[in-house]
Amino acid sequence: MLNALNWLWTRNCLLCQARAPAGKDLCLACDQSLPRAQEACPRCGAPGAAVGTDAVCGECQRHPPAYDATRAVFRYAAPVDRLIQHLKYHGRLELSRVLGGYLAQHLLALDDPLPDVLLPVPLHVSRLRHRGYNQSLEIARCVGRELRIPLDRQGARRIRATAPQMELPRDQRRKNMRGAFEVDGSFSGQRVAIVDDVMTSGHTVNALAECLRNNGAQEVRVWVVARA
Ligand SMILES: [Zn+2]
Ligand SMILES: [Zn+2]
Repeated sequence: MLNALNWLWTRNCLLCQARAPAGKDLCLACDQSLPRAQEACPRCGAPGAAVGTDAVCGECQRHPPAYDATRAVFRYAAPVDRLIQHLKYHGRLELSRVLGGYLAQHLLALDDPLPDVLLPVPLHVSRLRHRGYNQSLEIARCVGRELRIPLDRQGARRIRATAPQMELPRDQRRKNMRGAFEVDGSFSGQRVAIVDDVMTSGHTVNALAECLRNNGAQEVRVWVVARA
């Protein structure tokens, strides 16, 4: 009976169409080929920190970000980049469950102290209207459900429509995000985890983290599916 049920629940692998193990979205081979994040700066998640050290990178030493730590499951590389693009631009909402599931598993394995609340990076209302959903909210929903952490859907707003960070030259990204967010209410004494799909330069989450700090947040972490 159990075997029959397992068979019913098996899907084909999202990436190669081979049969995936029961309850999984990817076959074992594809799962193992995913570009897992390697050694990285614990503060900003930038790849390439010396193996086995906890030392923050030079950039974080020179300009400490407004957030305390970054956790990323993957590098922003194939095929994870494609999965995220499908979620974001092609309406493949079910991928938020897959990617959010990987993020939740990763966080459980790290055994970090869990925050009081999850805050998905908000989209500006014009982009939300155009896309119809916020992929970060969908990912955060899944993580919150699996780790039993409440979600704050209304706590922050994007008050300025900004150009996508990935389309801008590096030196313009910080300026692009300045004043982009507004936080409602108090986060006094709260430990918050900002949830996003991809972190590129970190300026987006930094702008949001600054707002949270100014509104009393005690600790701000960044949880992302992939780090570019
Ligand atoms: Zn596969
Ligand atoms: Zn760093």
